[in-house]
Amino acid sequence: MQVIIPKLSGFCPGVRNAEKKLLRENKRINPGRIYAYGNIINNSNYIEYLSRQNIHTLENVDTLKHGSYVAIRTHGINKQEEERLQNIFKLIDLTCINVKRVQLSILDHTERGYFIVITGKKNHPEIKGLISYARDFKVIETKNELEHFLKSIVSLLKQKSYHKFFIVSQTTGSKDIFENTVHSLKKICTPQIEIAVSNSICPITNRKEEEALRLQQQVDITFVVGDTLSSNANKLYNILAKEKKTVYFIADLKELRSLKLPLARYKRALLVSSASTPFFIEDEIRIFLENV
Ligand code: SF4
Repeated sequence: MQVIIPKLSGFCPGVRNAEKKLLRENKRINPGRIYAYGNIINNSNYIEYLSRQNIHTLENVDTLKHGSYVAIRTHGINKQEEERLQNIFKLIDLTCINVKRVQLSILDHTERGYFIVITGKKNHPEIKGLISYARDFKVIETKNELEHFLKSIVSLLKQKSYHKFFIVSQTTGSKDIFENTVHSLKKICTPQIEIAVSNSICPITNRKEEEALRLQQQVDITFVVGDTLSSNANKLYNILAKEKKTVYFIADLKELRSLKLPLARYKRALLVSSASTPFFIEDEIRIFLENV
């Protein structure tokens, strides 16, 4: 089978930089002394790979000895938590520069009296970090939540005397819900209400989606490789599955094999990995498919 892989498939620059820094620090410090606070990226195969490099992932770092090396994941963490950890541990900050930029813009607008509106997934680690930079905020994940928020705006304006809104998105958030929120808010607010907007959706994921959509026209089967925990992997799958039926979301080669697909029927496959899928996972699948 012929396998087409988009140029932008796999780790995005933010994750590549984080990996480079983490492995460099691991070499510099005696191996076995770096602990990742939560998943560095949302990919369980990669977390296992790191543990084989003696970089262990912990959900709670409070039991570690003072002065231990603790790595902060690419999605960033809660501001107050980061400040607390800074006093106890040696932090290796792997927060992507794009996420950092959103955190700081939320902080800046909060200090200037804006009510913060963030579009994205409430339970995603990036959003949990972002909201800690705001004072008063609303996270909008679905159309229903947007409608509900729009209805509550009049009382919000009265109660808190807010007259300024700042709208941003999770870096891997949906363009639809972000644009809908901006459009709806602008439509219902009077000119006296100021609305500042920052389109913080990462351009890398958009470009990858566009490239994959274009290449998908040339194949008869598509594989999106990623972890179900990964927001950008899910988004990539949903976009591609909208266009064609033969699209499969797989974590690795083991999962592809378990699907028992009649692969011999297909001539060309598109293989595209999310921003948090390591190269070795994609490569194993590519070699397998090329030998069908
Ligand atoms: S997808 Fe974009 S924002 Fe997220 S880690 Fe990668 S480069 Fe950074």
